[in-house]
Amino acid sequence: MCDDHCGINVYTENGKIVDIDGSNHYWNKGRLCVKGRAGVDFFNNENRILKPLKKVDGKFVEIELEQALDEIAAKMLEIKAKDGARALSIWKGEAVGFAQQEEIARRFIHAIGSPNYFSNDSQCFVGRWIGYSLMAGSWMAQPDFANSKCIVTWGANPPNAHPNMTQYIMEAKQKGAKLVCIDSRLTNIARQAHVFAQVKPGTDGALAHGIIRLLIEKDMIDKDFVENYTVGFEQLKEYSAKFTEEFVCQETGVTAEILHQIVDAIGSGGNQVINYVGNGLEHHENGINNIRAVACIDALVGGFDQKGGNFMPEGFGQQELTLYHELPLMHLDPIGADKFPVLYEYRQECHTMTAMDQILSEEPYPLKSMIIIGANPVSTNPNSAKVAAAMEKLELLVVRELVMSDTAELADYVLPAASYLERAEMHCHGMHQVVTLTNRLTTIPDVQDEYQFLHDIAHRLGAGEYFPWENEDALNEWLVEPTGVTIETLKANPEGYQYKPLKYKKWEERAKNGEKAFKTRTGKVEIYSEYLESLGYEGLPVYKSPDYIENAEVEFPFAMITGARKLVYYHSRNKEFKRFRTAVPNGEVEMHPADAAALGVKSGDRVKVTSKIGSIEIEVSVRHENEIMPGIIQITHGWKESNVNMITHDDKFDPIDGFPLMKAVKVNIQKI
Ligand code: SF4
Repeated sequence: MCDDHCGINVYTENGKIVDIDGSNHYWNKGRLCVKGRAGVDFFNNENRILKPLKKVDGKFVEIELEQALDEIAAKMLEIKAKDGARALSIWKGEAVGFAQQEEIARRFIHAIGSPNYFSNDSQCFVGRWIGYSLMAGSWMAQPDFANSKCIVTWGANPPNAHPNMTQYIMEAKQKGAKLVCIDSRLTNIARQAHVFAQVKPGTDGALAHGIIRLLIEKDMIDKDFVENYTVGFEQLKEYSAKFTEEFVCQETGVTAEILHQIVDAIGSGGNQVINYVGNGLEHHENGINNIRAVACIDALVGGFDQKGGNFMPEGFGQQELTLYHELPLMHLDPIGADKFPVLYEYRQECHTMTAMDQILSEEPYPLKSMIIIGANPVSTNPNSAKVAAAMEKLELLVVRELVMSDTAELADYVLPAASYLERAEMHCHGMHQVVTLTNRLTTIPDVQDEYQFLHDIAHRLGAGEYFPWENEDALNEWLVEPTGVTIETLKANPEGYQYKPLKYKKWEERAKNGEKAFKTRTGKVEIYSEYLESLGYEGLPVYKSPDYIENAEVEFPFAMITGARKLVYYHSRNKEFKRFRTAVPNGEVEMHPADAAALGVKSGDRVKVTSKIGSIEIEVSVRHENEIMPGIIQITHGWKESNVNMITHDDKFDPIDGFPLMKAVKVNIQKI
């Protein structure tokens, strides 16, 4: 159901799903989180969309699937004739599938002649991916937690976001690994830590440089690795020397004692150290460089692709489904590629915030149509009012969804999407180098999987040659062709099929063979990036103080974090699960007891939270004094009634990847 891709057993009685539990999959080994178990509620949910809907005079009416497909395709052809193919776009979310569905959506949009592929990745996850890729040529998809001697989590809370990952961390802890958690809040993982460093939001880079300085001074680095496999060490050493204990403690709020405990834990871990970065670091104006500074620690201890370190998985080797090589469309100006070239070069992602401006202004060219698959940008993008206005301005908005959403309500057509039990897609689990094929348990009339839907539209638009496979099963047969693994093998191994044995330190072997040791421009770990320098950015991961510290405003005295995960919800989803609404019934603003006392409020009271673009009203939750710092508040997104993205703004972002500032927004609070 989520990007953890746990294996499940599904039990049916008379065609009705009555229970779900964990299968003996490599990854979850029988375990499931509460969301996985409660999945049974979803399939017996009366709110599920099961018929195509068309908006007529402001109201949705049910129509036949063929009529919906014909009308959508006709409108797309009309827009293409008038404004060109690049006026068409697609946005892939995570509600209805993952990697394979993303690749199909990317294939579709290029097949019909537009470069405009969007997803939530231009504001979540990919910041970490780019930060580590700039440094080492690859995102650490699955760190080898179980064999680690020191695990450092940075702005990540696996118990809530990746429950199974937590089990591997706990396994390592039981075997003697040190667990260090760096976060602005005392999270569930921080409660398990040997060392908890409570940092001010957005100051992780200062802490990382302080750690780097001490690791070098204490001679706790892998000199051989640094000398032979990195570039830029001397510049880093000189730069990090400025991060004195006094400055780091003042800037981050972390004590000198904690700083030294972190350094000693990392230094005693040898190469078996993992720095695991969550989205707490990427939603800042200095996000990429803070992430790169953390990745420098991995470089200094030589932890890349080590057993117990940041393992770099090998791919499955299936066919390439996207058309970026076969049908490149750079000349059509993918939206945001000029403004955020790093984002586009590394991920071929168009920038969603730029898209909103472009829809509204029609500059430099009009964007008129969007197919949104399992995403809810009105709830998840910053500046929701602008996003809603942009969605309403589109000439054609098609949303494929499981249940109604804030974005679907604005659509011209809402189509029923297939859930995870109604499609067959492959998932690769990097940690074990395992691939699994999901078992299509059932099909429902009018509910198409993404392949079928995009196949049908592509054929109506004259791009059928790119969708020659009759259905997703035929596509899967083609995808596995070069791997030597058959679909039958995958079906016979529902617990996962290990496509390659795990191999560590692959960089050493590559260097011996005269190949690039790392997949970077220089073939080395790039502490200093000439590529970034060539684009006008700093070559080193320099630190910049967050705006709320550097430009404090009396009018907006609080720094607001958004997006902390609740265990029962997945991103903005699962609100239709009745048992979850009982557990966590509404959005709330979490605050320190001293702030609550100063405002004269207690838990359950309502307050108005105001930023420079607007305000929302929301219930107060006063937390324990250790849980959140004074002056910092947290609001989880995804609540229609108290949508925090009505007050996050889209004009503050990281200049390298364009990620919005969502974890240190300057706000004020008033008692209602
Ligand atoms: S972590 Fe939970 S929701 Fe995600 S796949 Fe596993 S059981 Fe399902």
